[in-house]
Amino acid sequence: MSEIQTNLEAVRERISAAATRSGRAALDVELLAVSKTKPVEILQEAVEAGQLAFGENRVQEILLKHPQLASKLRWHLIGPLQSNKVRKVLPLVEMIHAVDSLAIAKDINRIAGELGLHPKVLIEINVAAESSKHGFSPDQIREQLEALYELDRLYIQGVMCIPPFDLSMEKVRPYFVHLRELRDDLQKRGGALLPQLSMGMSHDFEVAIEEGATIVRVGSAIFGGRG
Ligand SMILES: *Cc1c(COP(=O)(O)O)cnc(C)c1O
Repeated sequence: MSEIQTNLEAVRERISAAATRSGRAALDVELLAVSKTKPVEILQEAVEAGQLAFGENRVQEILLKHPQLASKLRWHLIGPLQSNKVRKVLPLVEMIHAVDSLAIAKDINRIAGELGLHPKVLIEINVAAESSKHGFSPDQIREQLEALYELDRLYIQGVMCIPPFDLSMEKVRPYFVHLRELRDDLQKRGGALLPQLSMGMSHDFEVAIEEGATIVRVGSAIFGGRG
């Protein structure tokens, strides 16, 4: 068994255990293998171990890797998106995780219209109000939700966050709770379901699952460090 296969199996088992602990089904949690900076040969090993969903944080890497791998793979853009890259990346991805302003949402909507696409998107929330991070503040998203729902090409499927890094799970947990509660509030306000909660990375995905994550974005626990 390759190292990546071993790592993937270990992560899958931990996902399954965390789901079971919280009375959920493991199948309700999608594992995104975050393959940023890793070459296609490494991704191919993950594919051989049954992994089909990959997360990349840079458009450029998706453009590079997408044509080199099987078309059955599903790509998620998990990093920020600039207007001038929307047209290229939109046809290649299953979901855009980090819509962080009304302006970029409008650009995605307009270009999706031109391309005849209906992209699935998540709204990025800056849960800890960090000046270094992207995303809507909870107040901003409450104010702008209606304007986002007017963008009729977008399937807004939920929310995502990148909480401050902390090795103490009891410090990270409140951010995941916060995101879930905000999601519940937005569902009430907007009158539409927001089923996806994209939260949890290598060091905290189990806590995220306990708090309701439906998509976890796991890189280093599968592929090793990024040097
Ligand atoms: C890199 C990255 C991850 C994965 O981080 P790991 O700690 O390696 O699991 C998850 N989400 C986003 C947005 C990232 O950029």
